[in-house]
Amino acid sequence: ADQAVADFGLIGLAVMGQNLILNVADHGFTVCAYNRTTSKVDRFLANEAKGKSIVGAHSIEEFCAKLKRPRRVMLLVMAGKPVDDFIESLLPHLEEGDIIIDGGNSHFPDSNRRTDYLAKKGIRFVGSGVSGGEEGARYGPSLMPGGHEEAWPYIKDIFQSIAAKSDGEACCDWVGDAGSGHYIKMVHNGIEYGDMQLICEAYDLLKRGLGLSVKEIADVFAKWNTGVLDSFLIEITRDVLYYTDDDNTPLVEKILDKAGQKGTGKWTAINALDLGMPVTLIGEAVFARCLSAIKDERVRASKILGGPTPEYTGDKQAFIDDLEQALYASKIISYAQGFMLIQNAAKEYGWKLNKPSIALMWRGGCIIRSVFLKDITNAYRNNPDLENLLFDDFFNQAIHKAQGGWRNVVSKSALWGIPLPAFSTALSFYDGYRTKDLPANLLQAQRDYFGAHTFRIKPEFASEKYPIDTDI
Ligand code: NAP
Repeated sequence: ADQAVADFGLIGLAVMGQNLILNVADHGFTVCAYNRTTSKVDRFLANEAKGKSIVGAHSIEEFCAKLKRPRRVMLLVMAGKPVDDFIESLLPHLEEGDIIIDGGNSHFPDSNRRTDYLAKKGIRFVGSGVSGGEEGARYGPSLMPGGHEEAWPYIKDIFQSIAAKSDGEACCDWVGDAGSGHYIKMVHNGIEYGDMQLICEAYDLLKRGLGLSVKEIADVFAKWNTGVLDSFLIEITRDVLYYTDDDNTPLVEKILDKAGQKGTGKWTAINALDLGMPVTLIGEAVFARCLSAIKDERVRASKILGGPTPEYTGDKQAFIDDLEQALYASKIISYAQGFMLIQNAAKEYGWKLNKPSIALMWRGGCIIRSVFLKDITNAYRNNPDLENLLFDDFFNQAIHKAQGGWRNVVSKSALWGIPLPAFSTALSFYDGYRTKDLPANLLQAQRDYFGAHTFRIKPEFASEKYPIDTDI
């Protein structure tokens, strides 16, 4: 009898893999499960997978034999060498046209390489961003697949049925060529760093600037979650701030202020530098984590480096409203920067990208999901060639409306001596971006003075002596 019973195969029975298999099975597909440590296959089949359309395999050979053609194999294993190792061990058992999907947090250059390598062997590779953690994997993640486009019609049905839904639309669509799926996931994570940093700065201002209690701050986030900032991260911040320890005090105040990071924010910042794109907010968010990590040094510095003592005398609610606008405006800048980066990456790497769908994929399932992403989806649906998010009427108006509060908040923080790296870099970017004449004229003169780097003349001063578009 034909052993090929499974519609989909998944390798990697850690949290992500197990939950994703259950999700796929719930949507009417038969899944074959495999894991390097095969005892986990048995444990999974006997427990979580019991009674569901899930079968197991104890070798790669058996696994491949149990899959219908073209085989659809997804890897959810630790990123890096394990992915290449599994690809190598799968190859002898696959046939031309089969599909390998890597759903781990792989760095996009690896997915570029794997797409090419496998295409030469007749295998269609897909690098897919998966976001939403274990809860997302189980009940609806955001999925960002890219790679060999011929694979898409074969996986579309499964991917779109298991993905999160937003207004009835699946938070999953084809991203584009080669490593673009993992690239979009990387930028998503960078934006996540930025959103989190903005929220933390707002909390700091409310705490040290306005002198609010943690409970009062939680109330502010609860209210913000009903307005333009409505999002998963604002919602969990509210819950975190309301959470009290056994002694009835907020647990958050007992947590050591040293941030960790796994590196995807850093990847985004490094890539922005490589592509020459001013993605300043994500950069500041990464650096803010770095500054937090040198706690001992900060403790010593706090004893010898003075500054002002914050003190607020005005209408607190008015300031809270300004802060909401400042957070909203900074967030608009962060996403505008993120899309600038994506747009440039497409040019640089020669990818055709499905731009309106990128915001759609982030609308549900993932960590940065928000009401706001609906407006971004609309902006790119109205005009897929939009030069910059800030050129869209909706965001243009929003940022103008938010400006007064934003400037008030950033200037107050400077006077109070409370660091606001993400809010202020967003404002500086905005002011730089809307400035026709930046002081880079002087910079070019300096470069020419010491290094004979030459300069060009402004069109309005072009003449025989200074020809236009010519290095002088
Ligand atoms: P994980 O801890 O990253 O990886 C564990 C899995 O990888 C196990 O199946 C393990 O097999 C296998 N593995 C590890 N080293 C191996 C090696 N050298 N050779 C073969 N197999 C190896 O699992 P996870 O947290 O479920 O994440 C899976 C992937 O999804 C990762 O790339 C992760 O970054 C990504 N991701 C995770 C989340 C999340 O919230 N956790 C969200 C999105 C994406 P054994 O059982 O045999 O050790």
